[in-house]
Amino acid sequence: MKFENTLQFAKDCDAKDPIRKYRAQFYFPKVNNKEVIYFTGNSLGLQPKNAVDAVEEVMKDWRDLAVEGHFYAEKPWWDYHQRFAKPLAKVVGAKESEVTVMNTLTVNLHLLLVTFYKPTAKRFKIICEEKAFPSDQYMLQSQARFHGFDSKEAIVEVKKRPGEHHWRTEDIEATIAEHADSLALVLIGGVNYYNGQVFDMERITAAGKKAGAMVGWDLAHAAGNVALQLHDWQVDFAAWCSYKYMNSGPGNVSGAFVHQKHLGQKDIRRFEGWWGHDKERRFLMESEFIPMPNVEAWHLSNPSILSMAPYLASLQIFEEVGMHALLAKRDQLTAYLEFVLKSIDAEVPQSSFEIITPVDRACQLSVFLHGQGRDLFDYLMKAGVIVDWREPNVIRLAPVPLYCSFEDMYRFGQILKTGIQTLS
Ligand SMILES: *Cc1c(COP(=O)(O)O)cnc(C)c1O
Repeated sequence: MKFENTLQFAKDCDAKDPIRKYRAQFYFPKVNNKEVIYFTGNSLGLQPKNAVDAVEEVMKDWRDLAVEGHFYAEKPWWDYHQRFAKPLAKVVGAKESEVTVMNTLTVNLHLLLVTFYKPTAKRFKIICEEKAFPSDQYMLQSQARFHGFDSKEAIVEVKKRPGEHHWRTEDIEATIAEHADSLALVLIGGVNYYNGQVFDMERITAAGKKAGAMVGWDLAHAAGNVALQLHDWQVDFAAWCSYKYMNSGPGNVSGAFVHQKHLGQKDIRRFEGWWGHDKERRFLMESEFIPMPNVEAWHLSNPSILSMAPYLASLQIFEEVGMHALLAKRDQLTAYLEFVLKSIDAEVPQSSFEIITPVDRACQLSVFLHGQGRDLFDYLMKAGVIVDWREPNVIRLAPVPLYCSFEDMYRFGQILKTGIQTLS
């Protein structure tokens, strides 16, 4: 499609957008009494309007039924989490038995590594991307130390090439091949939080499996944002938070995936609790642990119903829209944002920014500001454009297809241009 940087063109795109009606199902914060242009759905998704009812339903059941709510609530609490398997399986490309919700993301990664990081004196290395999300770095370092290894020796970071802003798949494959004999685990963020790069998860998983390692993915920036086929790709395990592209609310529960080939095994190493016990016998309070036949065997506690409620509400929207329509709009909207950015760059006197996100991208564009930097960021925020700032000089823009519009992109461009001109 040939884009134009005009209000009329943007409005026409919105009029033709088959999923435009979903924007009205979200609350937007206001600045100067006007709804903001929201680019930080990669950090915290907006609140879906149906989330309030979902939480109130739980509050009402608790008020009216108290403990009886476990079995007689509108959506009984004892198996509430099982309502997630079907819609989530579609979002991440898995079988229903392979996905669940529990805990939070870093907690789940630690728990999954109990099973999937079993280092030996010979095979103990972990391959990850350089400058991974900090929590993932701390998680991996502490895992290596916990097993008695020097984390500097155990963790091998794949670097970007000098002067490049992205990782090359062939470099990751080469690193895996180089360390094949000593490699225990490959664990990378499926979409990088900083530059927005989408890793070739299928190829990297295949390379890791060929080397005899376990392969897991942190899908914090991928779930609900990119097409995933975790089952078919033979991924061993994965986890993701739900409050970014999946709009479940601040700090909310995490999703977890364990491949079918690891399910139903008797002597698998795993930390266990009563919610992982066979649900038919759970309340018999027996001393011997009988695991659930699915990924729920990794559950520990009875889950927080109040935090799952808004996630379930949000997932209803994903069910309705479908990943296909969502990703089609994502590509159009992101391409239009890129076009608007480049148009503005050409209109201002000197080049003022550079997009560092590679072509393998999803929703996010990371923009390196050459000139005004932090002042421009402050200007945008005051003008009602919510973006985020990452050191040294990067703003990240995520035009989330569920609730951002083409008109938002056009208006953002005009604000950006005025900002650059005002601050020059
Ligand atoms: C957002 C994010 C996290 C956050 O982890 P929590 O345990 O939910 O606080 C972890 N890893 C990555 C890659 C993220 O993007």
